[in-house]
This record gives sequence, structure tokens and C-alpha cells, in this order.
Amino acid sequence: MCRSGRLAAMRSEMTSEPGSPPHPNEDYASVALPASGEGGVLVVLDGVTPPEGDDGCVHGVPWFTARLGGAMLELSGSRRELTLAACLSAALARTADAHRSTCDLSHVRTPQATVVAARWDADTVEHLVLSDSSLLLEHPGGAVTPVRDTRLSELPPHVRELGREVRALPEGSPEHVRARAAYVRAVEGLRNAPDGTGFWTAAADPAVAAHAVTGTTPRASVTALLAVTDGASRWTERFRLGTWEQLPALVRKLGTSGLVAQVRAAEAGDVAPRGKRSDDATAVFVEL
Ligand SMILES: [Zn+2]
Repeated sequence: MCRSGRLAAMRSEMTSEPGSPPHPNEDYASVALPASGEGGVLVVLDGVTPPEGDDGCVHGVPWFTARLGGAMLELSGSRRELTLAACLSAALARTADAHRSTCDLSHVRTPQATVVAARWDADTVEHLVLSDSSLLLEHPGGAVTPVRDTRLSELPPHVRELGREVRALPEGSPEHVRARAAYVRAVEGLRNAPDGTGFWTAAADPAVAAHAVTGTTPRASVTALLAVTDGASRWTERFRLGTWEQLPALVRKLGTSGLVAQVRAAEAGDVAPRGKRSDDATAVFVEL
């Protein structure tokens, strides 16, 4: 049963492209429209590519993001009495239980992901963001609220200095390899650190859900939602092709595939790439 013409007019689209085929895409993207007619949910994850070496898991990152994303979608769509943070906590527990008997979940590189989720009904839009994927809320008139968890970009000075050293060294040189290993170790030490001095990703511990950026906005003040992994938000963050405010308008005009195409074109023309030349890029757009 549909009780609102606005709900019936909802439209969504999504694009997800691997950054470096044949390496598998480690992003996860989904939209569900619960048949109750009460609204819908979106869930986007970006699996963290582990550095070379063991991660304690026999399944791999795509398995992890499919499990966690699927559980998050199911719980947030069907358990509307639970907050999105409670849904994430339960989804993490369910995913951890699915490989606790075969894998070492205490491993520092156990599979992990960034999380964006949104859930809307006739009255409200709820959101949750953890780590460096982003959610943009577009308002009537075109204003945009970027919902971002910026803790990963606010690393302590000594770690940022290590990152600068890596970028200054010639790629592939022994010095570069050594500096990169030191940087990766330093970042790993900050990820989900018990003292809370670093940043948080969704890994094996359900308690991390409490650290997500969450909020609620009246439905009437949201015209569209755009969720992007950092491989797609490079459009604004790295290549400065436009502002966060301009991003939903671009997607409305060119589609989510148009956004990813512009990112890939910018990467192809980047003479001094920092970090990965191209990354898995996912965008999910929902017009309410
Ligand atoms: Zn596993």
C-alpha cells in the first residue's frame, strides 16, 4: 500500500566500478524499498584493501563487504525500531560470527570497511557514516549538507609526515618501499585503537558502531541523497572538479556513471598521482 505520492515518485540509480581490474571491486552498494511503502534504505561500503601479507581471514574483503552490507541492508530495512548504529552493531556481530570459527578476527588486518547508510520514511531521513565514504543531503533550493567522518584525514602530525615522505620518494625504490611500510604500520596502529586517538572502521568488533557519525533530518527538507566511496568523491576531494555542493547537481544531470567517468578521466590525466592511481568508485543517488 502506498500512502504518499512523494514516496511513489522516488527514483534511484547506482554505479560501482573497480579501480584496478582484475583486482575485484571491494565496494558494496545497495538500495532497498521496503514493500510496506514506508520509505527505503541505502547502504554503501568500501572494503579496505589490505597491504601485502596475511590478514587472518580465508574469505577476503569482497566476501566481508557482501556479508556486512547484506546484513546491514536487511536489518535497517526490517528492524525499523533499531537505530542505524544498532543495526550496524548487529550486522557486524552477525558477520563476525560467520567466520569466527575459521579466521583470526583479532588480526590487525582482519577485513574491514567504511560504511554509509541512510533510511527514510514519510517523516525523517536517518543517516550513519563511518570512516571516509561520504553522504550528501541535498535540500530544497539546492543547498547540500555533506555528512562526513573526518577522523581519517586528521591523523597525528607524525603520521602525516610519514605520508609526505612516502609521496616524495621515487615509486618502486627501496627507500619508497621502506617508508611506505612504516607509514602503513603507523596508520594500522591508529585504526580502531582502544584509546580512541585514531579513526574507526567497521571490522570485527560490533562496539565500533557507537563511533559512527549519525543524525536525523526532516524528510521534507531532503530532496536527494548521494552516497559516494572515496574513489568517487575524488571528484571534489582530490581533483577539485567542483564542490560538495555541486556534486548532487552533477549526478542529477549526468548520472552516477557520468560522475565515475569524470573521475576516471581526471585520473588518466593525472601526471603525479598520490597513492592509488584509481580506486574502486561507487555512487548511489536517491531522489526522494
Ligand atoms: Zn574470514
